[in-house]
Amino acid sequence: MRIYRYILAAAAALALVCSCTTEKSQKPQNVIYLIGDGMGFGAVSSLLLSQDGETGFEMAPVIGLNETQSANNYVTDSPAGGTALATGTRTCNGFLGVGPDSVQLESVLKKAQTMGKKTGIVVNTTLTEATPGAFYAGVTSRSMSYKIAEQFCESGVDVAVGAGLSVFINRPDSVDLTATLINKGYDVYLDWKSVLNTQSEKFVGILEMGDVHRRNKSSNKTAGAADGAEVCLAAKLAAEASDGDTTRFSEPAEYLQKATVKAIEQLEKNAPKGFFLMIESAIIDGYGHNNDSDGMIEEMQEFDRTLKALVAYVKEHPNTLLVVTADHETGGTGVGYKSHPVNAPEGMKLTFSTKGHTGTVVPIFAYGAGAEKFAGIFQNRELPGMIEELMK
Ligand SMILES: [Zn+2]
Repeated sequence: MRIYRYILAAAAALALVCSCTTEKSQKPQNVIYLIGDGMGFGAVSSLLLSQDGETGFEMAPVIGLNETQSANNYVTDSPAGGTALATGTRTCNGFLGVGPDSVQLESVLKKAQTMGKKTGIVVNTTLTEATPGAFYAGVTSRSMSYKIAEQFCESGVDVAVGAGLSVFINRPDSVDLTATLINKGYDVYLDWKSVLNTQSEKFVGILEMGDVHRRNKSSNKTAGAADGAEVCLAAKLAAEASDGDTTRFSEPAEYLQKATVKAIEQLEKNAPKGFFLMIESAIIDGYGHNNDSDGMIEEMQEFDRTLKALVAYVKEHPNTLLVVTADHETGGTGVGYKSHPVNAPEGMKLTFSTKGHTGTVVPIFAYGAGAEKFAGIFQNRELPGMIEELMK
């Protein structure tokens, strides 16, 4: 009997040791936060149903749900949605990186910097758009792009790739912010090839919009947003992408994946405390606003290429946490009854119920160290605090 008790005690002690070890191994050194703007269940379904092979979503060991409302509306806009995902505070629609009291908030990217991590931003829209802006800016309107560009220069990020040069150089105050960045020690690149070939650990790539977003073959030219949704850049871009110009198709279609891989390569160097990288796939939202089925499906395929590259990275680097979610759903996107017989020559056609955002919950997919924390139903504002806690 006594021996049995000893065995039990030894087993309990071992279990304690094991759980401690497991607990420790679940702390990520690197965090990758991938946000699909407007990527609700309809968008994810469009990929799962139209793709034969395994998608990056299906490789997720952990899945959760994310309630996306803002401080003052069940339907958030991108600035408030981004602010909740970046700072842990729900703010009023229209506000970016500030609380309902207009006071600037501290983002999880800033907290990662305080912990000694290197940080990066990769987007397929402008660097000063709402979602990336939520991680470094603090303004009461997304349209304050000149101010957001100034705040970007103060962000302290090590690596950033996106578009939107005009607010850095064609400014009412005549300041050349690319010079400001260079004075701060950045290598600044204005072309894609230089970004792809750089070995710099501190660089900003500010590219042409045609470099960061493909032109698709869709003929749907419906532009603009209705139903009280913001008229966002993504909607305009998605409309422009429907102009039939396919000449730049192949390279920009790989932009997000390649820019992400390049950013990680440079962030990994001399990073004893690891890195925090936020990535936004911005134009899913635009195709939702434009109710463009083909565009959204192609955009989700691009998203999946990036996601798969990240899942492969996490497999090779198990000290990395990858969290994938959306700021909100756009378009009321669905797969409506009788809308598309299987194997129809025209392919799947999504159905839409609005040209604006919706307040339906969006998915969370988590991979790697600490991923299990993301199983469940969460409010958007909970995610940054959970990531911060894991990084500590
Ligand atoms: Zn939108």
